[in-house]
Amino acid sequence: MPANPITADQHRCRFCSAPLHHTFVDLGMSPLCESYVSAEQVDQMEPFYPLHVRVCEKCHLVQLGSYVSAEHIFSEYAYFSSYSDSWLRHASNYVAMIAPRLGLGRDSLVVELASNDGYLLQYFVQKGVPALGVEPAANVAKVAVEKGVPTLVKFFGRQTAREMVAAGQAADLVIGNNVLAQVPDLNDFVAGINLLLKPDGVATLEFPHLVRLMEENQYDTIYHEHFSYFSLIAVERIFAAHELVLFDVDEIPTHGGSLRIYVRHVADAAKPVTAAVVDLRNRELAAGLDRMETYAAFAERVRESKRALLELLIRLRRQGKRVAGYGAPGKGNTLLNYCGIRTDFLDFTVDRNPYKQGRFLPGSHIPIHPVERLREARPDYILILPWNLRDEIVAQLADARDWGAKFIVPIPTARVLE
Ligand SMILES: [Zn+2]
Repeated sequence: MPANPITADQHRCRFCSAPLHHTFVDLGMSPLCESYVSAEQVDQMEPFYPLHVRVCEKCHLVQLGSYVSAEHIFSEYAYFSSYSDSWLRHASNYVAMIAPRLGLGRDSLVVELASNDGYLLQYFVQKGVPALGVEPAANVAKVAVEKGVPTLVKFFGRQTAREMVAAGQAADLVIGNNVLAQVPDLNDFVAGINLLLKPDGVATLEFPHLVRLMEENQYDTIYHEHFSYFSLIAVERIFAAHELVLFDVDEIPTHGGSLRIYVRHVADAAKPVTAAVVDLRNRELAAGLDRMETYAAFAERVRESKRALLELLIRLRRQGKRVAGYGAPGKGNTLLNYCGIRTDFLDFTVDRNPYKQGRFLPGSHIPIHPVERLREARPDYILILPWNLRDEIVAQLADARDWGAKFIVPIPTARVLE
Protein backbone atom coordinates (compact mmCIF):
# COMPACT_ATOMS: atom_id res chain seq x y z
CA MET A 1 0.00 0.00 0.00
CA PRO A 2 1.81 3.18 -1.13
CA ALA A 3 1.82 6.15 1.19
CA ASN A 4 1.03 9.60 -0.12
CA PRO A 5 3.82 11.99 0.67
CA ILE A 6 2.26 15.28 1.62
CA THR A 7 3.51 18.37 -0.14
CA ALA A 8 2.86 20.75 2.79
CA ASP A 9 5.91 22.44 4.25
CA GLN A 10 7.60 19.84 6.43
CA HIS A 11 9.86 22.43 7.98
CA ARG A 12 7.27 24.64 9.63
CA CYS A 13 5.53 24.04 12.96
CA ARG A 14 2.15 22.42 12.49
CA PHE A 15 0.74 24.60 15.27
CA CYS A 16 2.38 28.03 15.06
CA SER A 17 4.00 27.90 11.57
CA ALA A 18 7.42 28.99 12.86
CA PRO A 19 10.35 27.49 10.92
CA LEU A 20 11.67 24.29 12.50
CA HIS A 21 15.43 24.59 12.99
CA HIS A 22 16.03 22.22 15.90
CA THR A 23 16.34 18.47 15.86
CA PHE A 24 14.81 16.55 18.77
CA VAL A 25 16.03 13.20 17.51
CA ASP A 26 16.85 11.84 14.06
CA LEU A 27 16.12 8.12 13.81
CA GLY A 28 17.12 7.94 10.16
CA MET A 29 14.98 6.42 7.43
CA SER A 30 12.32 3.87 8.30
CA PRO A 31 9.41 2.15 6.57
CA LEU A 32 5.88 2.75 7.89
CA CYS A 33 5.73 0.72 11.06
CA GLU A 34 2.49 -1.11 10.26
CA SER A 35 3.48 -2.19 6.73
CA TYR A 36 4.22 -5.84 7.47
CA VAL A 37 5.77 -7.61 4.49
CA SER A 38 4.29 -10.79 3.01
CA ALA A 39 6.42 -13.61 1.62
CA GLU A 40 5.58 -12.46 -1.94
CA GLN A 41 6.73 -8.88 -1.21
CA VAL A 42 9.95 -9.78 0.49
CA ASP A 43 12.12 -9.27 -2.62
CA GLN A 44 10.47 -6.01 -3.64
CA MET A 45 11.41 -2.41 -2.95
CA GLU A 46 10.08 -0.91 0.23
CA PRO A 47 9.44 2.81 0.74
CA PHE A 48 11.39 4.42 3.61
CA TYR A 49 10.61 7.87 5.03
CA PRO A 50 12.54 10.11 7.42
CA LEU A 51 11.95 9.71 11.16
CA HIS A 52 13.46 13.09 11.89
CA VAL A 53 11.68 14.66 14.85
CA ARG A 54 12.00 18.40 15.39
CA VAL A 55 11.04 20.77 18.15
CA CYS A 56 9.62 24.25 17.60
CA GLU A 57 11.62 26.94 19.38
CA LYS A 58 8.58 29.19 19.61
CA CYS A 59 5.90 26.84 21.04
CA HIS A 60 8.00 23.76 22.01
CA LEU A 61 5.78 21.37 20.10
CA VAL A 62 7.79 18.22 19.29
CA GLN A 63 6.76 16.99 15.87
CA LEU A 64 7.41 14.86 12.83
CA GLY A 65 6.75 15.89 9.25
CA SER A 66 3.69 14.21 7.74
CA TYR A 67 5.09 11.87 5.12
CA VAL A 68 2.00 9.75 5.25
CA SER A 69 -1.50 11.09 4.81
CA ALA A 70 -4.23 10.74 7.41
CA GLU A 71 -6.33 9.03 4.75
CA HIS A 72 -3.68 6.38 4.46
CA ILE A 73 -3.50 5.85 8.22
CA PHE A 74 -7.18 5.93 9.04
CA SER A 75 -9.28 5.00 6.07
CA GLU A 76 -8.91 1.27 6.40
CA TYR A 77 -7.61 0.84 9.84
CA ALA A 78 -6.55 -2.68 10.77
CA TYR A 79 -6.58 -2.07 14.50
CA PHE A 80 -9.72 -3.01 16.39
CA SER A 81 -9.55 -1.58 19.90
CA SER A 82 -11.81 -4.28 21.30
CA TYR A 83 -9.12 -6.93 20.71
CA SER A 84 -7.28 -5.68 23.78
CA ASP A 85 -8.74 -6.71 27.15
CA SER A 86 -6.71 -4.17 29.08
CA TRP A 87 -7.81 -1.34 26.78
CA LEU A 88 -11.48 -2.34 27.20
CA ARG A 89 -11.01 -2.28 30.96
CA HIS A 90 -9.45 1.18 30.67
CA ALA A 91 -12.48 2.39 28.66
CA SER A 92 -15.01 0.90 31.06
CA ASN A 93 -13.27 2.43 34.09
CA TYR A 94 -13.22 5.80 32.36
CA VAL A 95 -16.97 5.71 31.70
CA ALA A 96 -17.68 4.67 35.30
CA MET A 97 -15.65 7.70 36.45
CA ILE A 98 -16.74 10.43 33.99
CA ALA A 99 -20.52 9.78 33.73
CA PRO A 100 -21.25 10.61 37.39
CA ARG A 101 -18.59 13.33 37.52
CA LEU A 102 -20.30 15.26 34.71
CA GLY A 103 -23.82 14.11 35.64
CA LEU A 104 -24.40 12.57 32.20
CA GLY A 105 -27.83 11.10 31.59
CA ARG A 106 -30.40 10.37 28.92
CA ASP A 107 -30.56 14.05 27.87
CA SER A 108 -26.82 14.29 27.32
CA LEU A 109 -24.76 13.58 24.22
CA VAL A 110 -21.30 12.03 24.30
CA VAL A 111 -19.19 12.22 21.11
CA GLU A 112 -15.98 10.31 20.64
CA LEU A 113 -13.53 11.34 17.92
CA ALA A 114 -11.80 8.37 16.28
CA SER A 115 -14.26 6.10 18.08
CA ASN A 116 -12.86 2.96 16.44
CA ASP A 117 -15.15 -0.06 16.86
CA GLY A 118 -17.22 1.46 19.66
CA TYR A 119 -14.94 -0.08 22.33
CA LEU A 120 -15.65 2.88 24.65
CA LEU A 121 -19.00 4.35 23.62
CA GLN A 122 -20.67 0.96 24.11
CA TYR A 123 -20.40 1.55 27.89
CA PHE A 124 -22.31 4.86 27.62
CA VAL A 125 -24.96 3.12 25.49
CA GLN A 126 -25.28 0.45 28.21
CA LYS A 127 -25.91 3.24 30.77
CA GLY A 128 -28.62 4.82 28.58
CA VAL A 129 -26.44 7.88 27.77
CA PRO A 130 -26.80 8.84 24.08
CA ALA A 131 -23.49 8.46 22.26
CA LEU A 132 -22.20 9.21 18.80
CA GLY A 133 -18.92 8.10 17.27
CA VAL A 134 -16.93 9.89 14.57
CA GLU A 135 -14.65 7.43 12.84
CA PRO A 136 -13.01 7.77 9.42
CA ALA A 137 -12.32 4.05 8.90
CA ALA A 138 -15.49 2.59 7.41
CA ASN A 139 -14.59 -1.01 8.27
CA VAL A 140 -14.25 -0.36 12.01
CA ALA A 141 -17.20 2.08 12.09
CA LYS A 142 -19.38 -0.71 10.70
CA VAL A 143 -18.49 -2.94 13.66
CA ALA A 144 -19.45 -0.10 16.05
CA VAL A 145 -22.84 0.36 14.41
CA GLU A 146 -23.49 -3.39 14.66
CA LYS A 147 -22.81 -3.05 18.40
CA GLY A 148 -25.47 -0.35 18.71
CA VAL A 149 -23.09 2.62 18.69
CA PRO A 150 -24.23 5.21 16.10
CA THR A 151 -21.17 6.31 14.12
CA LEU A 152 -20.48 8.95 11.47
CA VAL A 153 -17.85 7.85 8.95
CA LYS A 154 -15.91 11.12 8.73
CA PHE A 155 -12.68 12.91 9.50
CA PHE A 156 -13.10 15.42 12.28
CA GLY A 157 -12.36 19.13 12.03
CA ARG A 158 -14.18 22.46 11.75
CA GLN A 159 -16.33 21.34 8.82
CA THR A 160 -17.60 18.15 10.47
CA ALA A 161 -18.18 20.01 13.76
CA ARG A 162 -20.33 22.64 12.01
CA GLU A 163 -22.39 19.94 10.30
CA MET A 164 -22.89 18.12 13.59
CA VAL A 165 -23.96 21.24 15.48
CA ALA A 166 -26.40 22.08 12.67
CA ALA A 167 -27.82 18.56 13.04
CA GLY A 168 -28.40 19.12 16.79
CA GLN A 169 -25.37 17.07 17.81
CA ALA A 170 -23.54 19.58 20.02
CA ALA A 171 -21.83 17.59 22.78
CA ASP A 172 -21.80 17.60 26.56
CA LEU A 173 -18.69 15.45 26.47
CA VAL A 174 -16.18 15.12 23.63
CA ILE A 175 -13.65 12.31 23.94
CA GLY A 176 -10.43 11.90 21.98
CA ASN A 177 -8.21 8.99 22.98
CA ASN A 178 -4.91 8.56 21.17
CA VAL A 179 -6.02 10.66 18.23
CA LEU A 180 -4.48 14.10 18.89
CA ALA A 181 -0.96 12.86 18.10
CA GLN A 182 -2.17 11.51 14.76
CA VAL A 183 -3.94 14.64 13.53
CA PRO A 184 -2.00 16.35 10.72
CA ASP A 185 -3.98 19.62 10.98
CA LEU A 186 -3.94 20.26 14.72
CA ASN A 187 -5.53 23.70 14.54
CA ASP A 188 -8.48 22.47 12.49
CA PHE A 189 -9.07 19.59 14.89
CA VAL A 190 -8.92 21.65 18.09
CA ALA A 191 -11.06 24.41 16.54
CA GLY A 192 -13.58 21.68 15.74
CA ILE A 193 -13.70 20.67 19.41
CA ASN A 194 -14.45 24.28 20.37
CA LEU A 195 -17.34 24.35 17.87
CA LEU A 196 -18.78 20.99 18.89
CA LEU A 197 -18.67 21.51 22.65
CA LYS A 198 -21.76 22.97 24.35
CA PRO A 199 -21.09 26.13 26.43
CA ASP A 200 -20.75 24.07 29.63
CA GLY A 201 -19.39 20.95 27.91
CA VAL A 202 -16.15 19.13 28.71
CA ALA A 203 -13.66 17.44 26.41
CA THR A 204 -11.19 14.83 27.63
CA LEU A 205 -8.22 13.79 25.52
CA GLU A 206 -5.58 11.15 26.17
CA PHE A 207 -2.16 11.06 24.53
CA PRO A 208 1.32 9.79 25.42
CA HIS A 209 3.17 12.28 27.62
CA LEU A 210 6.37 13.69 26.14
CA VAL A 211 7.95 13.88 29.58
CA ARG A 212 7.72 10.11 29.98
CA LEU A 213 9.03 9.57 26.46
CA MET A 214 12.06 11.70 27.33
CA GLU A 215 12.65 10.43 30.86
CA GLU A 216 12.41 6.78 29.83
CA ASN A 217 14.07 7.02 26.42
CA GLN A 218 10.92 5.72 24.72
CA TYR A 219 12.22 6.71 21.29
CA ASP A 220 10.60 3.62 19.79
CA THR A 221 7.16 5.21 20.35
CA ILE A 222 8.12 7.61 17.55
CA TYR A 223 6.69 6.55 14.21
CA HIS A 224 5.34 8.13 11.06
CA GLU A 225 1.73 7.90 12.14
CA HIS A 226 2.49 9.95 15.28
CA PHE A 227 2.87 13.52 14.08
CA SER A 228 2.97 15.31 17.47
CA TYR A 229 4.48 14.56 20.91
CA PHE A 230 2.91 16.68 23.63
CA SER A 231 4.00 18.16 26.90
CA LEU A 232 1.34 19.79 29.07
CA ILE A 233 2.78 23.25 28.42
CA ALA A 234 2.64 22.76 24.63
CA VAL A 235 -0.88 21.34 24.63
CA GLU A 236 -2.14 24.14 26.92
CA ARG A 237 -0.84 26.70 24.45
CA ILE A 238 -2.54 24.94 21.52
CA PHE A 239 -5.93 24.75 23.23
CA ALA A 240 -5.63 28.34 24.53
CA ALA A 241 -5.21 29.52 20.93
CA HIS A 242 -8.69 28.07 20.32
CA GLU A 243 -10.22 29.59 23.47
CA LEU A 244 -10.20 26.36 25.41
CA VAL A 245 -8.78 25.90 28.91
CA LEU A 246 -7.17 22.80 30.42
CA PHE A 247 -8.80 22.72 33.86
CA ASP A 248 -7.74 19.27 35.07
CA VAL A 249 -5.26 16.54 34.19
CA ASP A 250 -4.68 12.90 35.14
CA GLU A 251 -1.38 11.11 34.69
CA ILE A 252 -2.28 7.59 33.56
CA PRO A 253 -0.13 4.52 32.85
CA THR A 254 -1.36 3.66 29.32
CA HIS A 255 1.12 3.59 26.41
CA GLY A 256 4.14 3.97 28.67
CA GLY A 257 2.68 7.00 30.46
CA SER A 258 -0.08 9.26 29.14
CA LEU A 259 -1.95 12.40 30.07
CA ARG A 260 -5.71 12.72 30.19
CA ILE A 261 -6.57 16.40 29.91
CA TYR A 262 -9.94 17.95 30.78
CA VAL A 263 -10.86 20.90 28.61
CA ARG A 264 -13.62 23.55 28.77
CA HIS A 265 -14.50 26.84 27.10
CA VAL A 266 -12.63 29.91 28.40
CA ALA A 267 -15.98 31.49 29.33
CA ASP A 268 -17.07 28.53 31.50
CA ALA A 269 -15.62 29.81 34.78
CA ALA A 270 -17.67 27.34 36.84
CA LYS A 271 -14.87 24.81 36.47
CA PRO A 272 -11.77 26.14 38.22
CA VAL A 273 -8.29 25.02 37.17
CA THR A 274 -7.18 22.29 39.58
CA ALA A 275 -3.95 21.98 41.55
CA ALA A 276 -3.06 18.97 39.35
CA VAL A 277 -2.66 21.24 36.32
CA VAL A 278 -0.59 23.81 38.21
CA ASP A 279 1.58 21.10 39.74
CA LEU A 280 2.31 19.33 36.46
CA ARG A 281 2.99 22.62 34.68
CA ASN A 282 5.50 23.53 37.40
CA ARG A 283 7.16 20.13 37.18
CA GLU A 284 7.55 20.50 33.41
CA LEU A 285 9.04 23.97 33.83
CA ALA A 286 11.40 22.65 36.52
CA ALA A 287 12.43 19.88 34.11
CA GLY A 288 13.30 22.56 31.55
CA LEU A 289 10.65 21.81 28.92
CA ASP A 290 10.54 25.50 28.04
CA ARG A 291 14.26 25.51 27.19
CA MET A 292 15.77 24.27 23.94
CA GLU A 293 18.84 22.69 25.57
CA THR A 294 16.59 20.19 27.40
CA TYR A 295 15.37 18.91 24.04
CA ALA A 296 18.84 18.93 22.52
CA ALA A 297 20.13 16.54 25.21
CA PHE A 298 17.62 13.82 24.33
CA ALA A 299 19.19 12.69 21.04
CA GLU A 300 22.45 11.68 22.70
CA ARG A 301 20.61 9.55 25.27
CA VAL A 302 18.87 7.75 22.41
CA ARG A 303 22.16 7.07 20.65
CA GLU A 304 23.63 5.72 23.89
CA SER A 305 20.62 3.42 24.33
CA LYS A 306 21.21 2.07 20.81
CA ARG A 307 24.89 1.46 21.56
CA ALA A 308 24.03 -0.41 24.77
CA LEU A 309 21.54 -2.67 22.99
CA LEU A 310 23.96 -3.45 20.16
CA GLU A 311 26.78 -4.05 22.63
CA LEU A 312 24.67 -6.59 24.50
CA LEU A 313 23.53 -8.36 21.30
CA ILE A 314 27.06 -8.44 19.88
CA ARG A 315 28.39 -9.94 23.11
CA LEU A 316 25.66 -12.60 23.24
CA ARG A 317 26.10 -13.53 19.58
CA ARG A 318 29.88 -13.82 20.00
CA GLN A 319 29.21 -16.22 22.84
CA GLY A 320 27.11 -18.28 20.41
CA LYS A 321 23.82 -17.51 22.17
CA ARG A 322 20.58 -17.70 20.24
CA VAL A 323 18.34 -14.64 20.49
CA ALA A 324 14.71 -14.36 19.37
CA GLY A 325 12.13 -11.61 19.75
CA TYR A 326 8.74 -11.48 21.37
CA GLY A 327 6.06 -9.37 19.70
CA ALA A 328 5.77 -7.48 16.43
CA PRO A 329 4.43 -4.11 17.60
CA GLY A 330 4.85 -0.88 15.66
CA LYS A 331 7.33 0.36 18.25
CA GLY A 332 9.50 -2.71 17.67
CA ASN A 333 9.95 -1.67 14.06
CA THR A 334 11.23 1.79 14.95
CA LEU A 335 13.68 0.21 17.39
CA LEU A 336 14.98 -2.50 15.06
CA ASN A 337 15.33 -0.23 12.03
CA TYR A 338 17.04 2.53 13.98
CA CYS A 339 19.45 0.10 15.64
CA GLY A 340 20.06 -1.87 12.42
CA ILE A 341 19.00 -5.17 13.98
CA ARG A 342 18.09 -7.81 11.42
CA THR A 343 18.32 -11.60 11.38
CA ASP A 344 22.04 -11.20 12.04
CA PHE A 345 21.05 -10.52 15.66
CA LEU A 346 17.49 -11.76 16.00
CA ASP A 347 16.61 -15.15 14.47
CA PHE A 348 12.87 -14.48 14.41
CA THR A 349 10.11 -12.93 16.44
CA VAL A 350 6.70 -14.25 17.49
CA ASP A 351 3.29 -12.61 17.77
CA ARG A 352 -0.16 -13.70 18.88
CA ASN A 353 -1.85 -11.80 16.04
CA PRO A 354 -2.57 -14.29 13.20
CA TYR A 355 -2.46 -11.43 10.64
CA LYS A 356 1.22 -10.87 11.39
CA GLN A 357 2.25 -14.55 11.53
CA GLY A 358 4.00 -15.71 8.35
CA ARG A 359 4.87 -12.11 7.45
CA PHE A 360 8.10 -10.18 7.96
CA LEU A 361 8.80 -7.04 9.96
CA PRO A 362 9.01 -3.96 7.72
CA GLY A 363 12.58 -2.92 6.93
CA SER A 364 14.38 -5.50 9.05
CA HIS A 365 12.56 -8.44 7.39
CA ILE A 366 12.74 -10.53 10.55
CA PRO A 367 10.21 -13.38 10.17
CA ILE A 368 7.15 -13.39 12.46
CA HIS A 369 6.04 -16.79 13.75
CA PRO A 370 3.31 -18.01 16.12
CA VAL A 371 4.28 -17.98 19.82
CA GLU A 372 4.73 -21.78 19.88
CA ARG A 373 7.89 -21.37 17.80
CA LEU A 374 9.68 -20.07 20.90
CA ARG A 375 8.98 -23.34 22.67
CA GLU A 376 10.32 -25.35 19.72
CA ALA A 377 13.44 -23.22 19.16
CA ARG A 378 14.19 -22.61 22.84
CA PRO A 379 16.38 -19.52 22.33
CA ASP A 380 18.78 -18.50 25.09
CA TYR A 381 17.50 -14.91 25.14
CA ILE A 382 14.14 -13.34 24.31
CA LEU A 383 14.07 -9.64 23.40
CA ILE A 384 10.73 -8.18 24.49
CA LEU A 385 9.73 -5.59 21.89
CA PRO A 386 6.44 -4.40 23.51
CA TRP A 387 8.34 -3.56 26.74
CA ASN A 388 5.28 -1.77 28.15
CA LEU A 389 3.64 -5.24 28.47
CA ARG A 390 6.79 -6.77 29.97
CA ASP A 391 5.23 -8.24 33.13
CA GLU A 392 2.32 -9.75 31.22
CA ILE A 393 4.68 -11.37 28.67
CA VAL A 394 7.12 -12.75 31.24
CA ALA A 395 4.13 -14.33 33.04
CA GLN A 396 2.77 -15.81 29.79
CA LEU A 397 6.18 -17.33 29.03
CA ALA A 398 6.83 -18.64 32.53
CA ASP A 399 8.02 -21.96 31.02
CA ALA A 400 10.87 -20.17 29.21
CA ARG A 401 12.75 -20.17 32.51
CA ASP A 402 12.57 -24.00 32.46
CA TRP A 403 14.74 -24.18 29.34
CA GLY A 404 17.02 -21.48 30.80
CA ALA A 405 15.94 -18.55 28.64
CA LYS A 406 16.45 -15.01 29.86
CA PHE A 407 14.51 -11.90 28.89
CA ILE A 408 15.97 -8.69 27.51
CA VAL A 409 14.20 -5.33 27.69
CA PRO A 410 15.57 -2.71 25.26
CA ILE A 411 14.15 0.47 26.85
CA PRO A 412 15.21 2.78 28.54
CA THR A 413 18.49 0.99 28.09
CA ALA A 414 19.19 -2.65 27.26
CA ARG A 415 19.21 -4.98 30.23
CA VAL A 416 18.74 -8.66 30.98
CA LEU A 417 15.94 -9.37 33.47
CA GLU A 418 17.16 -11.52 36.33
ZN1 LIG B 1 5.45 26.06 17.00
